[in-house]
Amino acid sequence: MYQEQVISGSLMEDRTLCLTFDDGPGPHTLEIAEYLTNQGIFATFFMAGKFASSLPDIPARVRDLGHLIGNHTYDHPDLIGLLSGGGDVASQITRTDLVIGNCVDGSTTYFRPPYGRWNVDVASVLNANPAASFGHVGPIHWDIENDWWFWQQHLSPRDCMENYMQQLSTKGRGIVLMHDNSADSCDQRDANRTLDLARLLVPVLRGQGFRFLRLDAIPGIDTGGANEGQSPIPPADLTRPPASPRIQPHPNLVLLGLLGCRAETIDGATAWRYLCETESYQHWSFCA
Ligand SMILES: [Zn+2]
Repeated sequence: MYQEQVISGSLMEDRTLCLTFDDGPGPHTLEIAEYLTNQGIFATFFMAGKFASSLPDIPARVRDLGHLIGNHTYDHPDLIGLLSGGGDVASQITRTDLVIGNCVDGSTTYFRPPYGRWNVDVASVLNANPAASFGHVGPIHWDIENDWWFWQQHLSPRDCMENYMQQLSTKGRGIVLMHDNSADSCDQRDANRTLDLARLLVPVLRGQGFRFLRLDAIPGIDTGGANEGQSPIPPADLTRPPASPRIQPHPNLVLLGLLGCRAETIDGATAWRYLCETESYQHWSFCA
């Protein structure tokens, strides 16, 4: 189900970041994903269905590198404008799910509306459509942004990196928006230097002691921050978890331990999900 208010990283601990990339897949998506995995960082790629359809191998390869795939609509429209013009906003979600659905890790599909355009009317129309809303969480917003503007102005990745660091010096944590592709124009896609930006930004962030969380490990993200004030790690549900859970972490990750578990109802049955600690980040994984 979708929240009426946008979801940002306001509940994240200081010095933690969640890297997100929009508008892919594009020509540099795989290189960005490989670079981040080699750095032990796992990001979230909000993909547009039309681009995923034209590069059908990329979503699975990005997932196999340990990253999370999210839904960024099919055609990348302004959803408020589309709805007010009588357009079908729900099919923007469901058509994209058909393309990326097999590549989403876990039972939740995170959704980010193009341009962050969102209001209560869009939320209620989507929530009235079970196929577009069941198992979906959004709208995922961001705290730090602007790479697209630098590429539009043909400014350097270093200038862009310094701007991101400036934003971080005041905010100190949050969801970072970057673009691995551009849905707006071919010119902007050709001018995109986000791969270079990532290569400049990551070592500086590491040097300043920032930690990286994948989107699904942000405290309270699935409830839009409803657990504000609680522990950063959701409390374990100790009702009746399996005595010896068999966890299958991502093949690229080393499982260091289990931090908690919770029960979820899926198709009427209870499934246990465990918060896994790995070398690089925490994520929820289903019991095998
Ligand atoms: Zn976008």
